[in-house]
This record gives sequence, C-alpha cells and structure tokens, in this order.
Amino acid sequence: TVIGSTPAEEKIFVSVRLRPLNEKEIARNDVSDWECINGDTIIYKSTLSVSDRSVYPNAYTFDKVFGCGSSTRQVYEDGAKEVALAVVSGINASVFAYGQTSSGKTYTMSGITEYAIADIYNYIGQHKEREFILKFSAMEIYNESVRDLLSDDITPLRLLDDPERGTVVEKLTEEPLKDWNHFQKLLSVCEAQRQIGETALNETSSRSHQILRLIIESSASEFSGRDNSSMLAATVNFVDLAGSERASQSLSAGTRLKEGCHINRSLLTLGTVIRKLSKGRTGHIPFRDSKLTRILQSSLGGNAKTSIICTMSPARSHVEQSRNTLLFASCAK
Ligand code: ADP
Ligand code: MG
Repeated sequence: TVIGSTPAEEKIFVSVRLRPLNEKEIARNDVSDWECINGDTIIYKSTLSVSDRSVYPNAYTFDKVFGCGSSTRQVYEDGAKEVALAVVSGINASVFAYGQTSSGKTYTMSGITEYAIADIYNYIGQHKEREFILKFSAMEIYNESVRDLLSDDITPLRLLDDPERGTVVEKLTEEPLKDWNHFQKLLSVCEAQRQIGETALNETSSRSHQILRLIIESSASEFSGRDNSSMLAATVNFVDLAGSERASQSLSAGTRLKEGCHINRSLLTLGTVIRKLSKGRTGHIPFRDSKLTRILQSSLGGNAKTSIICTMSPARSHVEQSRNTLLFASCAK
C-alpha cells in the first residue's frame, strides 16, 4: 500500500530565469532587452514599433520569474524545491530546464539537482522513523535513442511496457546511492560517459536530452513508534532538455536533418503533452509519441508534480528564440 496524500490534478509550475549578458554578447555590443519585475513578470524593455506591439505582448506573467541577478539557490528554493522534495512522500516529480542553447539550462539544472539531493539527504537524516533506499540512474536521449550514462556500453536501451510500472527502460543501471560523495562520483561518471558519446556518436549536448533520476523507497524503520508498515516509492527526474531551437529551426540536409527531426519529435511531443496537461488532462495525451515523454509519463501530470524552468538570454540578438521560449512557457502554465 502506498500512503501519502495524492492531490488532485497538479498544476505545472512554470518559471523563467533570465541569465546575465555573457562576455561574447557584451563584446559585440549586444544589449539586454528584458527585465524581471514583481517576481512574476518579465517585460520586453525595448521600444517596439507599433506593428510589433500588436503582434507580441511586451509583458509575460508566470508563477515566478528570476532576474539576471538571481542565484541558482533562489531558483531552486522558489522554483523547484517543493516539486523535487515531493518524492520523499511518495509522489513522482519532474523538474525540467527548457530553453535555447547557451541560455543556462545546464548551469541551472546541475545546481538544482545538487541542492535537491542534499535536501533529500537532510530530510532522511531527520526522519529516522523511516528507512530510505535511494537509487540513481542517468540517461541520455539522442536521435530517439536512449543511452545509459552510468555504463560504458553505448548500445541503445529499449523501452518496455510493464503492466505495473508503466514504461521501463530495459537494463538501465539503477545504482544504489550510498551517500553524498557517492552521488558526486556518479555525476562525474555521467559527465565522462556523455563526453565519450559526444565523440563516438558525433553528437553535441545541445541536441540531446539528459535525465538524472532518483528513485526513493521507504518503509517504517525499527525507530518507528507507530504501527506503520506502509511502503512508499517514487521517482524524481531532473531533465536538461535539448536546445529549444531544435524544435523550431529547420536544419540542413543529411544527418543533421534526421537529427533535427528526431529532436523535433521529443521536444514537440513534450510541448504537446505539457500543453494538454496544463489544460486539465482531457482527451488523448500523446505520451507514446516520443521516447522522452514515454520515459517520463508516470512523472508527468496526473498525481505527479512538475516544474519547468525556462532559461533565457537577455540579448537583443536572441529576441526571436526568447519569444519562442516565452510562448512555450505561456502554453505550459
Ligand atoms: P545551455 O545548457 O542552455 O546550453 P549553459 O548552462 O551551458 O547553457 O550556459 C551557457 C554559459 O552561460 C555557461 O558558460 C554558463 O556558465 C553561463 N551561464 C548560464 N546561466 C548563467 C547565469 N544565470 N549566471 C551566470 N552564468 C550563466
Ligand atoms: Mg547544456
């Protein structure tokens, strides 16, 4: 039996993080066109032509916005913590970083993952009445092909349908997590495997989705006062998505085109799934249309908690991609 409250229809938590202008942008005299106000609204500062003004809004409101002075700690506390920590109560969760390449997805997501796992260890330390088992997995989806980031084997993994557990990634390593240092070690294994893949398969991180996954099981410990034999199990996914420009840009011929199409599939399907979920789960939701959404199905929508952090460059030269990101974010909320 699984205890813990299972709240009805969870809304997706949507936030936007604006990064500072980087050196390259400053060097070419690029300017920042965006500003965050009131903690929940991002505005386009540049004077718009009248025709522009009727096409695009100049203010967008979300659950939270994080300005270019914000720290990853703040983004975690206000944009991801509640969702990620639901896992200790037996609720599945996913935290995503969405945005164009170089907008800060990896920067934001890697910090958030570390803060969340540190907090989960803190929680466990303070709850001796239950016994926790943590397992860690890591995978990458590239060209609709799934790879284990904790194994040297670069053979693509198959997805299987399990009647009880839903979609399962066959043979995916589930490493029992001993402690914080062990987690740090596994992260460096992932990073090394990712780089080997980039070389061997001629891929780049901007085209692949990375999922770090923590499975937490708990049951009453010998210190439990009450008669509480119930078992809890849940999964939290930290997802660093492929660059969102892959969903909109038409690429040149050959393999690039093939890659582009596949990435379109996972990112576009994710967009469709999230849009439908945010509108209240009516009708068919096409989870099965891409590997990413199949793998994440049980951690998306329904009783699962979801947070999407959309990262954005403030640069004028990126305005078109930034608007696409804000459009995606608006559809998700
Ligand atoms: P992405 O994963 O979206 O391609 P990265 O996270 O790799 O982008 O960020 C691109 C560069 O910008 C990196 O050098 C990163 O350190 C830097 N960066 C990203 N976000 C921030 C931020 N909020 N503050 C400072 N530097 C940032
Ligand atoms: Mg990245």
